[in-house]
Amino acid sequence: MRVLVVEDNPTQSTFARISLQRRGLDVNCASTLDEAIQYLRRDTIDVVLLDLSLPDSNGIETFYKIRQIASGVPTVVFTGLDDQDIAIEALKNGAQDYLIKGLAGDDSVFRCLQYAIERNKVEVALRKSERRLRIILEHSYDAFASMDNHFNITDWNNQAEKTFGIKKSEALGRSLAIIAPHHLRKQYAREVDEFFKASEGRIMRMTSELIAQHKDGHEFPIEIVVFRIYEDDSYMYCAFARDITERKHVNEELERRVQERTEELTHSNEELRQFAKIASHDLQEPLRAVQGFANLLQESTKDKLDKDSVEFIDYILDGTARMQQLIQSVLLHSNIVSRDETIEDIATDCNAIIEEVLENLDATIKDCHAKLEVDNLPVVAVERAQLIQLFQNIISNALKYRDKAAPQIFITAEKTVNEWLFSIRDNGIGIDPKYADKIFDMFARLHGKTKYSGTGMGLAICKKIVNSHGGKIWVESEVGQGCIFLFTLPAGKTKESGNGK
Ligand code: ADP
Repeated sequence: MRVLVVEDNPTQSTFARISLQRRGLDVNCASTLDEAIQYLRRDTIDVVLLDLSLPDSNGIETFYKIRQIASGVPTVVFTGLDDQDIAIEALKNGAQDYLIKGLAGDDSVFRCLQYAIERNKVEVALRKSERRLRIILEHSYDAFASMDNHFNITDWNNQAEKTFGIKKSEALGRSLAIIAPHHLRKQYAREVDEFFKASEGRIMRMTSELIAQHKDGHEFPIEIVVFRIYEDDSYMYCAFARDITERKHVNEELERRVQERTEELTHSNEELRQFAKIASHDLQEPLRAVQGFANLLQESTKDKLDKDSVEFIDYILDGTARMQQLIQSVLLHSNIVSRDETIEDIATDCNAIIEEVLENLDATIKDCHAKLEVDNLPVVAVERAQLIQLFQNIISNALKYRDKAAPQIFITAEKTVNEWLFSIRDNGIGIDPKYADKIFDMFARLHGKTKYSGTGMGLAICKKIVNSHGGKIWVESEVGQGCIFLFTLPAGKTKESGNGK
């Protein structure tokens, strides 16, 4: 530890040097201010022990001159001037201590110098961190203001000057209300007051979007966060604010575009739906005619035609029957629309639906000796007719695409957060996983078209029903391993228990 003793009295200087050296300090002595300044400029000094009365400088000025040269070096005043005003002034301006000659013993001088160095280290670290914080605040993209208990501004950064057009010198001491338009000031003050009154906590944060006013009078939206900090038996407030004019414009523009696109989509969906409906209707007319006349032809030519011609008429009738099935499936598909608005009112018990589906498929089930295991199923927010369609398409496929063994079908449902996950597992021929998505497309058929009857519309209809209720449908399968069809549906409200089972 290197100390500079600045003392013009040779006896006292020698005395201080010996006493401090004995305690292990490296001591340098200067007898004038000029000499002290030379030392400070040349050498690294850890602490200065300073007499204020020197041949070339006297009183508090001596201290100021030393500070000017070495503001970072801690200074302990050691003087014969027992003047309280000077002592306070020196301490206020950075002196680490003010000792009176004759009153302070050797030990206390030594200890004072040690403490001065440590205190100075802490102060330097504090100043550094304050400076760093200041730089951060000044470079912040957000406007920053701190306020006292009465919301009078105590700090105001660069960005605040830019955002509100108010200089720091103008802002300090004024109420934060200067950033609000006149007609909104009372309302904002009341809101902030009510918010903080309601909270007992020491640090509270309030975030909101407000209309602010620039000094030039124009109003603009800001996002503001106000903190309250409890300090020294009182509150202080800090606020970060950001001009969100640009963000609002972008959001509004985005919303407008989404709205436009949604309208366009709704419109073209409706057009498509209408088209499919009309086309299917119109197609049915000539089809019925072909069907009717082919039937008449079959009856009127009974036993009159050769074997080939009879077969040809059968082909015509088969074809028309298939065509009719296809048209009806397309019509059904196009009639499924999202019905979010009524979802709250629908509650269909899946147990009853399964009973009805099993009745519809009773003949096939008996024919192929199928076994079904069905869990207790929930209530869902889906219309009855659509649910029948959904379950019937999947179960009839499980029966249709059976393997050599008699079909075994397991139906379960489990609750996720706010929907039900259904699974329908079979032991049939299975599906190559690479077609797992494709089978839900319209007219997609994987297996022999002559071996298995069908339109390729069943799963497309299932997908549309599930999707129109916000759910998902997929299949897990391997060839020869059976299929598990999984789908989610929204839980419906039961009268007794609210949601679900
Ligand atoms: P389809 O009228 O042909 O049965 P779907 O849309 O119901 O039409 O099914 C599409 C295709 O998915 C079927 O043609 C079939 O190849 C395959 N598929 C559907 N369900 C099963 C199943 N449980 N097991 C094996 N393949 C299936």
